[in-house]
Amino acid sequence: MGNVRELMARLGPSTVKFDTGRGGTPDLTNQDIAAALGMVPAGLGRELLEACWWPDGAALRRHKLRDAVIALVTPELRRQQRKLADARTELGLAEVCMGWAGAVTAEQRAERDRAAHRLGQVKAQCWPISTLESLPTLAAAVICEIARRPHCQACEGRGEVMSGDLLVACKVCGGSGLSGVSDRRRAASIGRDEAGYRRTWKPVYEWLLGKMQEAEQEAAWLMRSAISSAA
Ligand SMILES: [Zn+2]
Repeated sequence: MGNVRELMARLGPSTVKFDTGRGGTPDLTNQDIAAALGMVPAGLGRELLEACWWPDGAALRRHKLRDAVIALVTPELRRQQRKLADARTELGLAEVCMGWAGAVTAEQRAERDRAAHRLGQVKAQCWPISTLESLPTLAAAVICEIARRPHCQACEGRGEVMSGDLLVACKVCGGSGLSGVSDRRRAASIGRDEAGYRRTWKPVYEWLLGKMQEAEQEAAWLMRSAISSAA
């Protein structure tokens, strides 16, 4: 069976009969592929599969992709904001205790310093404040990277290599089957300079890429098994 992604790329608005050109493999029509796509549960993975490999189809449903990306990001943003609010409250409480009555004790000072340090740590772990406004740009860049990223040379994109008699996850790409993309390229793809990207945007970009890639690969896998069982 050919690569699902290649099949998807062939599935345009036209209804040209699709021939895999491989001996012994049954011919697949666009309808077969569309039917297999229909077997992939709705959600981020299917939206990404369509956006990456079937741009015309996805263009019709772009709001669904947007909703799926927002649904992915919202719980994480909420979690970060709760953590930040908690750390601010802790610091406020530690400060109020210091001036409550009498001389400030060494313990109170230590408690305040600990809370201030904790707040700094939490802040450093939070995504930039403008993450939501930047989400369309970030999501588009991540989708573009997923769609165009070259295969890992070590495993030829399979994500697995033979080790003796065993098929094991490729160590070079961590099983993703994809080769690395530089920070400089990622910075350019979201319209930032490399230093600014590393300082501010790298964690959110990599988080999005990881989650979206996972969802897309899961959907590609489901589609591949739907095509294999239909064939
Ligand atoms: Zn690999």
